[in-house]
Amino acid sequence: MYYTNILVSVTEICTVGCSHCGFKGSIRERQPAEEEMAAWVTQACDWGIPAIIFTGGEPFQRFSLLKAGVQAVARHPAKPRTGCFTSSFWGKDRATVDKILDQLPGLTHLYLSTDVFHQERVPAQYVRNVIDGAIAHGIRDISLCITIAKDEEEQQFRALYEDYGDRLLIHVDRVISTPHIDHVAATGHPPLPEHYKTSCWLHTPIINPNGDLCACHVAKVGAHRPLDKDVYFLGNLKQRSFREIMEEADADYGYQYLRAFGPQGVARLVNEDDELRTRFGGKAYSSGCDMCSKVLLTRKGREKLEAHVADPFQQALIDTVRERRFGEVSQDQAARVQAQAQAAEAAR
Ligand code: SF4
Ligand code: SF4
Repeated sequence: MYYTNILVSVTEICTVGCSHCGFKGSIRERQPAEEEMAAWVTQACDWGIPAIIFTGGEPFQRFSLLKAGVQAVARHPAKPRTGCFTSSFWGKDRATVDKILDQLPGLTHLYLSTDVFHQERVPAQYVRNVIDGAIAHGIRDISLCITIAKDEEEQQFRALYEDYGDRLLIHVDRVISTPHIDHVAATGHPPLPEHYKTSCWLHTPIINPNGDLCACHVAKVGAHRPLDKDVYFLGNLKQRSFREIMEEADADYGYQYLRAFGPQGVARLVNEDDELRTRFGGKAYSSGCDMCSKVLLTRKGREKLEAHVADPFQQALIDTVRERRFGEVSQDQAARVQAQAQAAEAAR
């Protein structure tokens, strides 16, 4: 299956207070009921998503909800993997870590955020306590997630944990620029296709605490404002089932354009359109997600994408890429093939 994981946001609440946090300035009051959390997770597993990753906010600040989610995954007959992101704020000593992890049987992956932003609030020793506890509890995968604004920060943080060797997986990403941090211009790229890839994080959709099912992590912006008009929004799980939403997404060519062409496709869109080029062209972006979200979270960016994918030629191109790269036949493409076959039959 194309989808490798789904992020499930347990809560937007977090009192750690990192300077780069995308939730800064939002109300952060949304969270599901325990039954909703269990139902959404079960629907995602029923649909075939092989791994559920809980996120936030800080999921460990709403521990009963996190436990309900982890238990729902552990009960599922497909035995999906279960991961969780955390700042490790709860890792003040090993006894505390053990007490918490004892209550999360079935957890298979911890994603520990550690970088200059988190370290202002959570000492590396807390992260090390969580690593040691996770190893003792047999948690199979432990990832360090290092968000950098400057190149040298990567080595600085790798060095803090190098004694764990291969036991840790390391993931490094560039911070998405916000008004609260600078230093992006020095390392960023303009929106030219050659700087960006055709793939991104769309194989990991996200469920927000209000039930919004969205294309990727950028939908965390839903903590600040409604998402339902945005390109990244797929549907709300309080209104329709996971399966219904994903079936409808199959015919959503804005979403499928992103799956087919990724941030490189967004850069191409900017370059081929005078208005978008004037508005976004002269700037530097820290990553594909930074550029993509800065463009497509605007009304103009969204309208240009909608207009672009309304063209039947572009739709046929997207269908072809989906077939070649993912082995998928879209509902539209299947209908076209069937109509052609019927026309050929009638002509005989
Ligand atoms: S731990 Fe995560 S959610 Fe909390 S402030 Fe830091 S970046 Fe934001
Ligand atoms: S490049 Fe765009 S669509 Fe892809 S993961 Fe990043 S924000 Fe989402």
